[in-house]
Amino acid sequence: MDICERIENITKKIPDYTTLVAVSKTHSVETVKQAYNCGQKVFGENKVQELVSKYEQLPKDIQWHMIGHLQRNKVKYIAPFVSLIHSVDSFKLLREIEKQAKNNKRTISCLLQFHIANEETKFGFNIDEVCQMIESNEFKDLQNVNVTGVMGMASFTNDMEQVKEEFKTLKKYFDILKSRYFISKRDFKDISMGMTNDWEIALEEGSTMLRIGTSIFGARSCMIK
Ligand SMILES: *Cc1c(COP(=O)(O)O)cnc(C)c1O
Repeated sequence: MDICERIENITKKIPDYTTLVAVSKTHSVETVKQAYNCGQKVFGENKVQELVSKYEQLPKDIQWHMIGHLQRNKVKYIAPFVSLIHSVDSFKLLREIEKQAKNNKRTISCLLQFHIANEETKFGFNIDEVCQMIESNEFKDLQNVNVTGVMGMASFTNDMEQVKEEFKTLKKYFDILKSRYFISKRDFKDISMGMTNDWEIALEEGSTMLRIGTSIFGARSCMIK
């Protein structure tokens, strides 16, 4: 199967309101170009340097999503062009994105990343932190960031019941935030969840954005990352 067929196999199974983010990390510019040539326009990367380098070399109508942990001192490199940051995991980071977006006379769309996995290592907010942030005056003053939803990564496990519960939790957080704070904000609508091994479950649990790498581009070499 080539890349076009693999993309087609996924897109034919997902509803219109769901965005497929093709996760191209570690894969070459040529490989991304192949996917682009089959009509894929949304790509995700998890490292700033790689994101910037691919942005520079590839067509400018690609929408680049930052999906990996983002350090504040690197926001400035992606602020000129990034179309969505999935991985906002602190108020400090959101304020830095606001600042850099302003410098670039842009509004940057962001998702709030929640810690839903049963693992120490994954980044993300808990629901109380997010409520406190949203209720603060400082949050209300933000003008150049647009919070359009939530993101989460399930545990790395074969226990699909657990994964399902974690996705349910993320959906519940989305619903709480939507009904408490964003009921009339139409573009607060995204739930970014689901990767190669769990996207079908994520869809059932309400995902609107799938981040899929391996089943489109093949396995990533452990020699690269
Ligand atoms: C790598 C990555 C993905 C894609 O993972 P696959 O299992 O290859 O589909 C999704 N989300 C994030 C945050 C990632 O870093």
